[in-house]
Amino acid sequence: MIELVCASANPDKVAEMAAVLAGRVRLLARPSGVGEVLEDADTLEGNAILKAVAVCEFAGAASLADDTGLEVDALGGAPGVYSARFAGPHAGYADNVARLLAELAEVSESRRTARFRTVATVCRPGGACISAEGVVEGSIAVEPRGTGGFGYDCVFVPDEGDGRTFAELGAEAKNALSHRARALRALLALLEGS
Ligand code: IMP
Repeated sequence: MIELVCASANPDKVAEMAAVLAGRVRLLARPSGVGEVLEDADTLEGNAILKAVAVCEFAGAASLADDTGLEVDALGGAPGVYSARFAGPHAGYADNVARLLAELAEVSESRRTARFRTVATVCRPGGACISAEGVVEGSIAVEPRGTGGFGYDCVFVPDEGDGRTFAELGAEAKNALSHRARALRALLALLEGS
């Protein structure tokens, strides 16, 4: 089985990664000595590489990172790579959702199309980084719904679902079609073929 050190410090993301990779990857905990990695690249892949390289160099072992953006068409693709800090540098999940809904207050339901995009990256000592992307299309609900998931899940309605938000669908259904699951599965295919 492939062994990878997890470069994500976000327990919500780690739980999803572990569920998606179960049985195929042994995911090792992020070493506690790695400081916070400044995610100042202007692309998702750039930020994923920054995180994967930092943890790979610290641990001396192959590491896995992901970076995600929510792209809202009516906002010209924002917040995109800036999704974590949409409502400010110290914004939490609820702050970001509140800003998103405020920005879309005058936007009709048919124009609230959006997508989640994830880039997952593995970096191996002395080797190049390998990245893969996953996308899920959907739309932004008018108000938050559901208690599962994290981040923007309470307002994201995937096109492939039944009208429920990711937060209403729950972990298993989200992991069956999410941006993160798609990126991780594509990355595994590349790794298993290399
Ligand atoms: P990052 O990948 O940790 O930089 O995430 C960027 C922002 O998107 C953060 O605010 C996350 O909470 C949010 N986010 C990342 N992945 C997801 C997801 O799967 N669902 C909902 N929000 C997410």
